[in-house]
Amino acid sequence: MSTTYRLGVLDGDGIGPEIVPSSVEIATAAAAVAGARVDWVTLPLGAAAIATHGTPVPEETKDALAGLDGWYLGPHDSVSYPEPHKSALNPSGTLRKHFQLFANIRPAKSFPGAQAVCDSADLVIVRENTEGFYADRNTFAGTGEFMPTPDTAIMMGIITRQATERVARVAFDLARSRRKKLTIVHKANVLKLTTGLFRTVCQDVARDYPDVRVDDFHIDAMTVHLVRRAQDFDVIVTENMFGDILSDLAGEISGSLGTAPSINASATTAMAQASHGSAPDIAGQNIANPVAMILSGAMLFEWLGARHGDPALANTAKIIESGVAGTIAAGISTRDLGGSASTTEFTAAVVKAITADA
Ligand code: ATP
Ligand code: MG
Repeated sequence: MSTTYRLGVLDGDGIGPEIVPSSVEIATAAAAVAGARVDWVTLPLGAAAIATHGTPVPEETKDALAGLDGWYLGPHDSVSYPEPHKSALNPSGTLRKHFQLFANIRPAKSFPGAQAVCDSADLVIVRENTEGFYADRNTFAGTGEFMPTPDTAIMMGIITRQATERVARVAFDLARSRRKKLTIVHKANVLKLTTGLFRTVCQDVARDYPDVRVDDFHIDAMTVHLVRRAQDFDVIVTENMFGDILSDLAGEISGSLGTAPSINASATTAMAQASHGSAPDIAGQNIANPVAMILSGAMLFEWLGARHGDPALANTAKIIESGVAGTIAAGISTRDLGGSASTTEFTAAVVKAITADA
């Protein structure tokens, strides 16, 4: 009998309780068609968990996640939490840190039928998630920025061989499964030691991947190349802050915030998370675009498929992706993509496309 995979469902705040159930419904339909067996485990997180458990990330949620194969994480709106939760590390940061989810993988792919600056982009940004110039969240545990006087603020960045090497391997493995091209992004002409080490370690790892073509750019030059010719890039690997900024740019060039998916992965588990936030301005109106969350789920299935060597999981991912692409190409989309479908109408259309194709 085939394995049953157990996946967590954490709705989160704002539009989370709309887009996460939509994504789970679509994944359930796709898994049934692909013959993958999935059990969904709903767990408390965010504002709702503060109300019931007195904390946005209850211990029982962390404990339960440790026993699962991966999970869907809805967005959070931690600025709206009461203190002390507002000032604490947000739920996504807490989970990234707790589970050492060191690789943030964010594709940017244009959709036929959706307007975009570049209509033929198909690239993936692999962002180091634990150190670099956002090291404050992890390595320095909140002390990476400080003010020695009221008029001076200092920030520390850290790049290590170990963290760079593990994220570089994820990026090279990914490049090998795609168009076999990898671009290292750094600023080694100015931040010579830190981002210089990042480039050197990536180039060292490249020796193990002679079939992957490698080039590298400074972060500032990279923004120009992305705007001019996003279609030429395959996999991009970079440090934490550069990756955060570049992936918003790449996401926007290839579509909209509402379509930009991501996963955060360690060697043993992964968390599907839309790149956008909780969109409190449109929450509860049934107009949010669930595509970024749906495709984040597809990425999780693809990652699980590679990890477990289970083609039914990889197939689930493909079925989700083509269900979404087919629905958008048929002219059904939410308002942010120029359409008029509600969240639930779009979801029903994708489920229909998936079950009709089966
Ligand atoms: P965060 O700090 O949580 O990332 P943010 O300030 O980046 O938040 P978002 O919550 O991502 O903001 O929202 C930015 C804008 O994009 C808002 O106007 C929001 O309504 C819109 N938006 C974000 N996600 C979606 C979505 N899935 N569907 C439609 N509109 C969205
Ligand atoms: Mg944001």
